[in-house]
Amino acid sequence: MTGIISNLVSAPNVPEPELPHFEDSVMFAGGRLSLDFVNTFCMRRGAPVEFLWSAEALEKWLRSFASFTGKDLGPLDSPIHEELFTRALDLRTAIRNLVLGAIQNQEPSPKALRTLNQVIRANPTYPRLTQKGLVLTATATARTETERWLTEIAIDAADLLTNGDLKLVRQCEASTCIRVFYDTTKNHKRRWCVEKCGSRVKSAAYYERKKGVREFSEER
Ligand SMILES: [Zn+2]
Repeated sequence: MTGIISNLVSAPNVPEPELPHFEDSVMFAGGRLSLDFVNTFCMRRGAPVEFLWSAEALEKWLRSFASFTGKDLGPLDSPIHEELFTRALDLRTAIRNLVLGAIQNQEPSPKALRTLNQVIRANPTYPRLTQKGLVLTATATARTETERWLTEIAIDAADLLTNGDLKLVRQCEASTCIRVFYDTTKNHKRRWCVEKCGSRVKSAAYYERKKGVREFSEER
Protein backbone atom coordinates (compact mmCIF):
# COMPACT_ATOMS: atom_id res chain seq x y z
CA MET A 1 0.00 0.00 0.00
CA THR A 2 1.39 3.34 -0.97
CA GLY A 3 0.46 7.00 -0.98
CA ILE A 4 -2.16 8.74 1.08
CA ILE A 5 -4.10 5.58 2.03
CA SER A 6 -1.07 3.80 3.45
CA ASN A 7 -0.18 6.97 5.41
CA LEU A 8 -3.68 7.12 6.83
CA VAL A 9 -3.74 3.46 7.82
CA SER A 10 -0.34 3.39 9.45
CA ALA A 11 -0.37 6.93 10.86
CA PRO A 12 0.41 6.81 14.57
CA ASN A 13 -1.64 8.82 17.07
CA VAL A 14 -4.73 9.02 14.88
CA PRO A 15 -7.28 10.51 17.27
CA GLU A 16 -10.14 8.16 18.15
CA PRO A 17 -13.64 9.30 17.24
CA GLU A 18 -15.08 11.34 20.08
CA LEU A 19 -18.62 11.34 21.37
CA PRO A 20 -20.29 14.65 20.50
CA HIS A 21 -19.47 16.91 23.42
CA PHE A 22 -21.96 16.45 26.18
CA GLU A 23 -21.39 16.83 29.89
CA ASP A 24 -21.74 13.54 31.78
CA SER A 25 -24.27 15.13 34.12
CA VAL A 26 -26.49 15.80 31.08
CA MET A 27 -25.77 12.51 29.34
CA PHE A 28 -26.67 10.45 32.41
CA ALA A 29 -29.59 12.46 33.77
CA GLY A 30 -32.25 9.84 32.99
CA GLY A 31 -32.14 8.36 36.48
CA ARG A 32 -32.09 4.80 35.10
CA LEU A 33 -29.57 2.92 32.99
CA SER A 34 -32.19 1.96 30.41
CA LEU A 35 -33.45 5.55 30.06
CA ASP A 36 -29.95 6.96 29.71
CA PHE A 37 -29.45 4.38 26.98
CA VAL A 38 -32.64 5.51 25.21
CA ASN A 39 -31.42 9.12 25.46
CA THR A 40 -28.33 8.34 23.41
CA PHE A 41 -30.53 9.36 20.50
CA CYS A 42 -31.97 12.78 21.15
CA MET A 43 -32.69 16.18 19.62
CA ARG A 44 -30.57 19.26 20.04
CA ARG A 45 -31.73 22.62 18.68
CA GLY A 46 -34.33 20.82 16.59
CA ALA A 47 -31.85 18.44 14.95
CA PRO A 48 -31.42 14.72 15.74
CA VAL A 49 -28.21 13.75 17.53
CA GLU A 50 -26.99 10.15 17.45
CA PHE A 51 -24.42 9.39 20.15
CA LEU A 52 -24.02 5.75 19.18
CA TRP A 53 -22.99 6.07 15.57
CA SER A 54 -20.46 3.22 15.78
CA ALA A 55 -19.43 0.28 17.93
CA GLU A 56 -16.51 2.40 19.22
CA ALA A 57 -18.90 5.15 20.27
CA LEU A 58 -21.04 2.59 22.11
CA GLU A 59 -17.99 1.29 23.93
CA LYS A 60 -17.07 4.85 24.98
CA TRP A 61 -20.58 5.56 26.15
CA LEU A 62 -20.66 2.39 28.26
CA ARG A 63 -17.30 3.21 29.82
CA SER A 64 -18.42 6.79 30.55
CA PHE A 65 -21.63 5.47 32.09
CA ALA A 66 -19.72 3.02 34.32
CA SER A 67 -17.24 5.66 35.49
CA PHE A 68 -19.87 8.39 36.01
CA THR A 69 -22.35 6.24 37.93
CA GLY A 70 -19.90 3.79 39.53
CA LYS A 71 -22.06 0.94 38.22
CA ASP A 72 -20.19 -2.17 37.14
CA LEU A 73 -21.49 -3.29 33.76
CA GLY A 74 -19.05 -6.18 33.56
CA PRO A 75 -16.20 -6.74 31.13
CA LEU A 76 -16.43 -5.11 27.73
CA ASP A 77 -15.13 -6.48 24.48
CA SER A 78 -12.85 -4.01 22.82
CA PRO A 79 -13.72 -3.39 20.07
CA ILE A 80 -17.39 -4.30 20.44
CA HIS A 81 -18.44 -6.75 17.73
CA GLU A 82 -20.55 -5.19 14.94
CA GLU A 83 -23.29 -7.80 15.38
CA LEU A 84 -23.53 -6.97 19.07
CA PHE A 85 -23.64 -3.26 18.19
CA THR A 86 -26.62 -3.89 15.89
CA ARG A 87 -28.38 -5.84 18.66
CA ALA A 88 -27.74 -2.97 21.07
CA LEU A 89 -29.40 -0.50 18.68
CA ASP A 90 -32.38 -2.84 18.23
CA LEU A 91 -32.67 -3.08 21.99
CA ARG A 92 -32.60 0.72 22.28
CA THR A 93 -35.43 1.06 19.73
CA ALA A 94 -37.46 -1.56 21.61
CA ILE A 95 -36.96 0.12 25.00
CA ARG A 96 -37.82 3.56 23.58
CA ASN A 97 -40.97 2.10 22.08
CA LEU A 98 -42.06 0.46 25.35
CA VAL A 99 -41.19 3.49 27.48
CA LEU A 100 -43.07 5.93 25.23
CA GLY A 101 -45.97 3.47 25.14
CA ALA A 102 -46.03 3.47 28.96
CA ILE A 103 -45.90 7.28 29.07
CA GLN A 104 -48.69 7.61 26.52
CA ASN A 105 -50.73 4.80 28.07
CA GLN A 106 -50.61 2.68 24.92
CA GLU A 107 -50.51 -1.08 24.59
CA PRO A 108 -46.93 -2.40 24.46
CA SER A 109 -45.68 -3.37 21.02
CA PRO A 110 -45.32 -7.20 20.75
CA LYS A 111 -42.23 -6.75 18.56
CA ALA A 112 -40.53 -4.55 21.16
CA LEU A 113 -41.40 -7.03 23.91
CA ARG A 114 -39.96 -9.86 21.82
CA THR A 115 -36.68 -7.98 21.35
CA LEU A 116 -36.40 -7.22 25.07
CA ASN A 117 -37.15 -10.82 26.03
CA GLN A 118 -34.65 -12.16 23.49
CA VAL A 119 -31.84 -10.10 25.00
CA ILE A 120 -32.71 -11.19 28.54
CA ARG A 121 -33.10 -14.84 27.56
CA ALA A 122 -29.83 -14.92 25.62
CA ASN A 123 -27.82 -14.13 28.68
CA PRO A 124 -29.25 -15.44 31.94
CA THR A 125 -27.36 -14.71 35.12
CA TYR A 126 -26.59 -17.18 37.89
CA PRO A 127 -24.98 -16.70 41.29
CA ARG A 128 -21.27 -17.45 41.49
CA LEU A 129 -19.96 -18.21 44.95
CA THR A 130 -16.61 -16.87 46.06
CA GLN A 131 -14.91 -17.59 49.34
CA LYS A 132 -13.03 -15.21 51.64
CA GLY A 133 -11.97 -16.95 54.81
CA LEU A 134 -15.13 -18.41 56.29
CA VAL A 135 -17.44 -16.10 54.36
CA LEU A 136 -19.12 -17.01 51.08
CA THR A 137 -20.35 -14.29 48.74
CA ALA A 138 -22.71 -14.77 45.79
CA THR A 139 -22.25 -12.53 42.76
CA ALA A 140 -24.61 -12.45 39.79
CA THR A 141 -22.65 -13.74 36.84
CA ALA A 142 -23.69 -13.86 33.20
CA ARG A 143 -23.22 -16.85 30.95
CA THR A 144 -21.49 -14.62 28.41
CA GLU A 145 -19.59 -12.10 30.48
CA THR A 146 -18.79 -9.84 27.55
CA GLU A 147 -22.48 -9.32 26.80
CA ARG A 148 -23.53 -8.78 30.38
CA TRP A 149 -23.96 -5.01 29.91
CA LEU A 150 -26.54 -5.55 27.17
CA THR A 151 -28.57 -7.78 29.49
CA GLU A 152 -28.14 -5.26 32.34
CA ILE A 153 -29.79 -2.60 30.17
CA ALA A 154 -32.63 -4.93 29.15
CA ILE A 155 -33.21 -6.10 32.76
CA ASP A 156 -33.25 -2.51 33.98
CA ALA A 157 -35.90 -1.67 31.37
CA ALA A 158 -37.96 -4.74 32.32
CA ASP A 159 -37.73 -3.83 36.01
CA LEU A 160 -38.68 -0.21 35.34
CA LEU A 161 -41.70 -1.21 33.24
CA THR A 162 -42.98 -3.79 35.71
CA ASN A 163 -41.87 -2.60 39.17
CA GLY A 164 -41.30 1.12 38.55
CA ASP A 165 -43.92 3.79 39.15
CA LEU A 166 -44.92 4.53 35.55
CA LYS A 167 -46.35 7.93 36.52
CA LEU A 168 -42.77 8.96 37.23
CA VAL A 169 -41.48 7.95 33.79
CA ARG A 170 -41.71 11.12 31.74
CA GLN A 171 -40.58 12.79 28.57
CA CYS A 172 -39.00 16.24 28.83
CA GLU A 173 -41.64 18.94 28.37
CA ALA A 174 -39.42 21.13 26.19
CA SER A 175 -41.00 20.98 22.74
CA THR A 176 -37.67 20.40 20.98
CA CYS A 177 -36.51 17.66 23.35
CA ILE A 178 -37.37 13.95 23.29
CA ARG A 179 -35.30 12.77 26.26
CA VAL A 180 -36.94 10.61 28.91
CA PHE A 181 -36.28 10.37 32.65
CA TYR A 182 -37.42 8.75 35.86
CA ASP A 183 -38.53 11.40 38.31
CA THR A 184 -36.94 10.62 41.66
CA THR A 185 -37.32 14.15 43.05
CA LYS A 186 -39.02 14.49 46.44
CA ASN A 187 -42.14 16.30 45.18
CA HIS A 188 -42.26 14.39 41.86
CA LYS A 189 -42.68 17.58 39.86
CA ARG A 190 -39.69 17.25 37.58
CA ARG A 191 -40.60 18.48 34.09
CA TRP A 192 -37.27 18.73 32.26
CA CYS A 193 -34.53 16.25 31.44
CA VAL A 194 -31.98 18.87 32.53
CA GLU A 195 -32.18 22.41 33.87
CA LYS A 196 -31.03 23.82 30.53
CA CYS A 197 -34.25 22.62 28.87
CA GLY A 198 -36.33 24.27 31.59
CA SER A 199 -34.48 27.59 31.35
CA ARG A 200 -34.80 27.58 27.57
CA VAL A 201 -38.58 27.13 27.80
CA LYS A 202 -38.87 29.75 30.56
CA SER A 203 -36.83 32.35 28.68
CA ALA A 204 -38.83 31.70 25.47
CA ALA A 205 -42.08 32.20 27.43
CA TYR A 206 -40.67 35.38 29.00
CA TYR A 207 -39.70 36.72 25.56
CA GLU A 208 -43.18 35.92 24.19
CA ARG A 209 -44.83 37.69 27.13
CA LYS A 210 -42.62 40.74 26.68
CA LYS A 211 -43.32 40.79 22.94
CA GLY A 212 -47.06 40.57 23.66
CA VAL A 213 -46.91 43.55 26.03
CA ARG A 214 -44.88 45.57 23.50
CA GLU A 215 -47.30 44.81 20.65
CA PHE A 216 -50.21 45.70 22.90
CA SER A 217 -48.71 49.06 23.89
CA GLU A 218 -47.75 49.84 20.26
CA GLU A 219 -51.35 49.23 19.19
CA ARG A 220 -52.62 51.75 21.70
ZN1 LIG B 1 -34.99 18.11 27.70
